[in-house]
Amino acid sequence: MSKYWSDYLQDLTPYVAGEQPQDKSYVKLNTNESPYPPSDAVLDAIREQVSDRLRLYPDPEATLLRQEIAGYYSLQKDNVFVGNGSDEVIGFALLAFFRNSKAIVFPDITYSFYPVYCRLFDIDYKTFPLTDTFEIDIKSIPARSGGIIIANPNAPTGACLDVDKIDTVLKNNPDIVVLIDEAYIDFGGESCIPLLKKYPNLLVVQTLSKSRSLAGLRVGIALANDKLIEGIKRVKNSFNAYPLDSLALAGAGAAFRDKATFERNRKLIIEAREWTVAALVQMSFYVVPSRANFLMARHKSMPAKSLYLLLKENGVLVRYFDIPRIDNFLRVTVGTMDEMQTFIKTLKKIVG
Ligand code: PMP
Repeated sequence: MSKYWSDYLQDLTPYVAGEQPQDKSYVKLNTNESPYPPSDAVLDAIREQVSDRLRLYPDPEATLLRQEIAGYYSLQKDNVFVGNGSDEVIGFALLAFFRNSKAIVFPDITYSFYPVYCRLFDIDYKTFPLTDTFEIDIKSIPARSGGIIIANPNAPTGACLDVDKIDTVLKNNPDIVVLIDEAYIDFGGESCIPLLKKYPNLLVVQTLSKSRSLAGLRVGIALANDKLIEGIKRVKNSFNAYPLDSLALAGAGAAFRDKATFERNRKLIIEAREWTVAALVQMSFYVVPSRANFLMARHKSMPAKSLYLLLKENGVLVRYFDIPRIDNFLRVTVGTMDEMQTFIKTLKKIVG
C-alpha cells in the first residue's frame, strides 16, 4: 500500500501465478508448462533474429505470423489476432467486448484470471455453478448476460464441453460475444474453430504456452470474425502497438510450421496423462476426467493441502488451490513419463 496508489489499486487483488521456484530443482508439475523443449526449428528461427535488426521495431501488424496461423486453420489473416500470451489477448478482448452495463458470466470454478481482469477493467461479472462432477450444464448459463467466457477444456478441472453444446450456447446468445478459451484444446478436446464460419459472435483464444512448448516466448492468439478482430486491434493499438517482439514473431511462426514436433509431444502428454490417471485411481484417488495437460485429483482420505506440502518436501511441486469446492483437490501438470513415475512413486511413499 502507498498513498501514491490510485484509489482503485488499493482494493485490487492481482492474479497469483503458480510458483516458479528458484531455490532448488523440483519435478515441476504446477504450472501446466510442456515438459518438452521447443523444436530446433523454433530455436533456429529465434536465433536468426538475434542480430543487428533488433534495433528496429517489429511489424506492429504481425502480418507474416497471422498469415501463417490463418493458413494453418484455413482462415484469413483478418480472422487472426496475436498478443503477448493469451492472458493479454483475453484482457484486450474483455476491454473490446465486455465493458458494458450488463454483467458477463463464467463458471464458478474456472481460470482465476477472469475475475481479476473484470475488477481491473470495472466489468461486472456473475458466476454460474459447475455440476457436482465439475461439468458445464449449459442450462445453468444465465440468459441475457453481457458476455460469456468458457475455458474449454476448463481449468483447473480439465473437463471438456462438446462442440455441439457450444454451438447451442452461440445460437442462444446471438447478441453477445462468447469467448472460448482453448488454452488446453490440443490435448484431446475438439476445437470449436469450425463454428467461426457460422457465428460472428464467437471468439476463440489459444496459446503457444502449452502444446507448443513456448510459455517463455509469450504468444497467444485470437481467432474470430474480422469485425471482432478489428475490435481487439483497436484496444491493442490504444495500449501497445508491438505486443510481440521480433523473436516471438519468428519463433511462433516456426512452431506452427513444425507439425511433427507438435503432434509427437501432445501424443506423449496424452499417453502420460492416461497412465497417471490409472495409477491414481489404483491409489484411491478420484480423478476428474481430463482432456488437458493436467489432472485434478482427490484422495479418499488424505487432505490435499497436506499432500501438496509433503510432495513439495519430497521434491515434487504440484498446485493446490485453497478455494471452495476444490480445496481438497491437487492439480497436477502432466510431465514426461519419467516425471509422472517419480510423482506416483513419491505419492505412494506418502499415502502408503
Ligand atoms: N487460459 C487458461 C485457461 C490458462 O490456464 C492460461 C495459463 N495460465 C492462460 C489462458 C494463459 O496462458 P498464456 O498467457 O501463457 O498464453
